[in-house]
Parts: sequence; structure tokens; C-alpha cells
Amino acid sequence: MILKGNPVSPGMAIGRTFLYKPFSYMAREKYFEAGQEFRRVEEFDRAVKAANEELNRLLNSFEEAPGEKAEIIKAHKELLEDEEIIAMVHESISRDRKMPDYAVSEVFSEFIALLGKVNDPLIAGRVSDLKDVRDRILRILLGRPECSLSNLPGKVVVVAHDLLPSVAANLDRENVLAIVTEMGGETSHLAIIARSCGIPAVLGVENVMGALSEGDEAAVNAVLGTVTVALTNEEKQNFNAKKIAYEEKAIKTAKFFEVSSEMLDGTRIETGINIGSDLPGDGYRYGDFVGLFRTEFLYMENDHLPSEEEQFRAYRKVVENAGGKSVTIRTLDIGGDKNLSYLDLPKEQNPFLGKRALRLCLDHKDIFKTQLRAILRASAYGEIGLMFPMVGSMDDIFSAKAVLQEAVSELDADNLTYDKNMKVGAMIEIPSAALIADLLAEEVDFASIGTNDLCQYLTATDRMNSEIGSYYQSMAPAMLRILKMIADAFQAAGKPLSVCGELAGDPRGAVVLAGLGIRKLSMSSSNLAGVKESLSQISAEKAAELARKLLRMKTQDEVLRFLSATLCGDSADLG
Ligand code: PEP
Ligand code: MG
Repeated sequence: MILKGNPVSPGMAIGRTFLYKPFSYMAREKYFEAGQEFRRVEEFDRAVKAANEELNRLLNSFEEAPGEKAEIIKAHKELLEDEEIIAMVHESISRDRKMPDYAVSEVFSEFIALLGKVNDPLIAGRVSDLKDVRDRILRILLGRPECSLSNLPGKVVVVAHDLLPSVAANLDRENVLAIVTEMGGETSHLAIIARSCGIPAVLGVENVMGALSEGDEAAVNAVLGTVTVALTNEEKQNFNAKKIAYEEKAIKTAKFFEVSSEMLDGTRIETGINIGSDLPGDGYRYGDFVGLFRTEFLYMENDHLPSEEEQFRAYRKVVENAGGKSVTIRTLDIGGDKNLSYLDLPKEQNPFLGKRALRLCLDHKDIFKTQLRAILRASAYGEIGLMFPMVGSMDDIFSAKAVLQEAVSELDADNLTYDKNMKVGAMIEIPSAALIADLLAEEVDFASIGTNDLCQYLTATDRMNSEIGSYYQSMAPAMLRILKMIADAFQAAGKPLSVCGELAGDPRGAVVLAGLGIRKLSMSSSNLAGVKESLSQISAEKAAELARKLLRMKTQDEVLRFLSATLCGDSADLG
């Protein structure tokens, strides 16, 4: 059986499937007959005991590297043993004859509501712990097995309906051979995380959860976008041969990691990397700069709003480890497909068109200013560019800069040091900002084009919805024209412009962007070699000529066909 989807993070893997079914349950109001009180209380006590045993097992598995995760588990154990909670559930079962699941839901809801009202982010952060403990007890009461992705039972192919970025950010990366989901397109944040971790991923595979069973052997070809199960021996041999060929080609391309990024005629294109957290080892080595630090991952990996001090330490560490390379730190971009479990935000009908990123920050000035202060303080330790996401108008820039000015004044009053020449920039990812790129260029020190959102908002196509993936055309003539407009405006103003959306990490996209006159590209580090390789095969003049031709074409199909016929050596040929 062969299933098809979008190959969003290249690679090939074969292994047993692990079906991720996150537990969610709404307890209904239910009572039991008189006389069963003792049995029902015992049912609850047994579930608590089993929950405790699960947590102990988890704690033991962290023995080698105790740390933040272990602290969270210990906190959950404390909640499990909380006498007040246990007494209230006991009373609710034995006095009111509520079914144990209903009693647990009610008692925990009471505590969750209480904590939710407290105006202290640290205490409010405990809400997610309470929810976690509640769900653990409920799951056990219902006899369902544990399903966690942060602690996998060996190397597996993770299959899911969808993975929230907050779940993906906490993956047990060592043990994930590949990711396959029903939801998600090429620029979904799950795809971006998979690419940055080098995990092969095929997203948007219709009904894959129904088609596969736990433990099936699956061959994932994340170059072609296929998932094959029930392979014959011959098919398996074939797949393994292709895998080896893919890995050999990847090794050849990998040589380009080492070279400086230049076009055939020597024109220099700066190639930078996008990060979501500090990179281990010599992770910064091959990038000329860090063009995008998506700070929301710092928020998503935590169970509370990170304090100024926590953020300062995280940003400073990145700046110091980047070893003198400039780091563009983007302020919080929450909303859309990225949520914070501990921040209770109102549900929206169209979250990607709602209170997302800068809009949310301007509405929660305390959260925004905490981050700005932390970034400013880190700027004393290396070259930082501060960048605002989702800028849609000059009003947005003026408002964001006003809050930044407040943060600056506060630091001055507190006698704290920061880089007084820190550059301030905007992401151009909303068409209304692109159309006034000339005005924006006067007001900012630099800009970076977020092609993922720019394409979503330009073509009115939800970047998460694979059903309408064919409308999401990042190489459509309309996209090329708007990119050209922005490039021209920044060139005229003499201000630096980069692209940090996924188009920059696509070997063909990179050539087109260079042809449009853009000289700075930032991408997942895994894409650096492929992009450098493809840039090295064409001169700047030829790329400009190519871009001029593409700008006159009528459809994306025409553009792609022309690119396939003209360019060689891109990753689409692999597999
Ligand atoms: C973009 O929109 O292109 C971008 C880089 O930001 P994100 O993918 O985080 O929305
Ligand atoms: Mg964006």
C-alpha cells in the first residue's frame, strides 16, 4: 500500500510506526447507585497509584540527564499527592456519588479556574501541570495507554493526525526516524521544525491514521512524498538501495556546507540560518549569520512565560555561541498554529488572521516589554538585530518602536547596558506591508521577507491546509512580482534586505531570489549545502535574466517548468 503526501523535509527512513493519539476527554455528568461508594473511591485511588508509577518510570528514564524535564515530573507527582485535591475528589465520589472521572474533572476544573485568575505568570503556568495530571488520571481511569512523544519506546516512524508545534518542539528527537501526518503543508511550523532537526517528514497524507496500525513497518520517502507499508522483500530491497543512493547524493551536496556562498561569477550571496533555540556543538559554523531566531520556541518549550532573566540568558547564549556572527532575533510570534498552553487566549474563527504575533504583543505590553528588555540586554554581548513579525502598516512599526523606546528608557533608568546602535527591522510577510516597502524602508534599519506568510496572505490560502495546497503558490507570478517590488524598494533606499521564509532554503527559489536582486538568504541549516550548490551553478547576470523571464510568465506551472528545464542539481531530482 502506497500513501501520498507532501514531502516537506527530505530524507528516507524505514521503521515501525508509532501512532500518536493525544488523549482528550470531556467527562459527562454521571452518578452511580448507592452502595458502590467504596468501590468507586478505590477505583480513583488505583488510578492515582498507577499515575504515580508512570511518573516514576519517566523519572527513572531521565536518570542520566536530570534537569528541567525531571523537575516538571516531580511537580506533577506533588500534585498527584496533594491532600486537598485527593480529599475533595474522595468527598465528591463518596458523598455526592459522582463517577470518578466526573469527580476528577470537576475538582481539577475548580483549581484550574482558580489559578487561571491569578495575575502571576508563574502561578498561571501551573495550570498546564494541573491539566496534565488531570488527563493522566482520566486516561488511566478509562483504561487507555500512555501516548507521549517526548519519551519514545525506541526508534519509530511517528504517525499523527497533526502535531502542534509545541508538541513537536519537545520531541524525543533521537528516536524519531520520520514524521507522517494528515495535516500540514510545506510551510507549516511542523515542517519547519522537522527540517531544522533533519527529520524526514511527509505531511498532508490523507487518512494515514486510519490506514496504518501501530507497529506496521513503514518506508517513508520524504523526497517523493510517499509512505509504503506491507512491503515485499523485493520492495524493501529496492527502498534500501534508493536510500543509499539518496544518502550518497546528500554526502556529495554536503561538501557545499564548507564553501563560501558564491554564484558562478563570484557574486557573493550571504547565506544565514534560521533557528528556534541555541544550536549545539558547532551548529553556527556554516551560516554567515543568523537571519531568524524564532523566539516563540523558547516560550513553547516552557510551561510558563519565560521571565526577563530566563530570556536574557537564552538570547545571550545564542549571541555568544554564534561567535561574532550577527543574530536577528524576532519578537514573539504566537497565534496562528502556535499556541501557549499556559496563556489562555480567546478562541478565534480565523487565527491566522487574528491577534497573532505583533498584534498580540501590542495588546499584552507587559509580555512584549519583558522580551524587548531581555533582547536589549543581550545586545551588549554581540551583534543583534531586533525584528518585528507580522508588520502590516506603518502604525504597527510606530507602535512597536514606541514600546521599544519605553524598554530603552527603563534600562537607562536601571543603569543596564545594551547596544545603543542595535538595528531594528521588520518582517515583510503581509501584502499591505509589501505594498509600502518604500515607506517601511525609511523607518527600519533592515527587513526580512517571510515568504511563508506572504504567500499565505497574498494567495488567501491557509498554509496549514493541505487540501488547498495547490493554491499556495510561492513561485506564482504574483509572488515574484511582489518580491521584486520589495527588493527594488530596499535597494533604492540602500537598506539591507533578506529572505527568511522557506523559499530561501529551496535551491531553485534561492536562484530566483538572487535573480530578483536579493543578496541575503536565511534558511534551516540543513538546506545550506543544497542552496550553495545551486547558487554556484549560475552567474548573477544569468539569474537576473532568468528572473526577468519568469516575471513575464502567466502561471506558476510555466515558471516551474522553465526552472526545471533551465536549472540543474536541485533536491527535487533526488529519490
Ligand atoms: C515566514 O512567514 O516566512 C516566516 C519566516 O515566519 P514563520 O514561518 O515563523 O511564520
Ligand atoms: Mg511568518
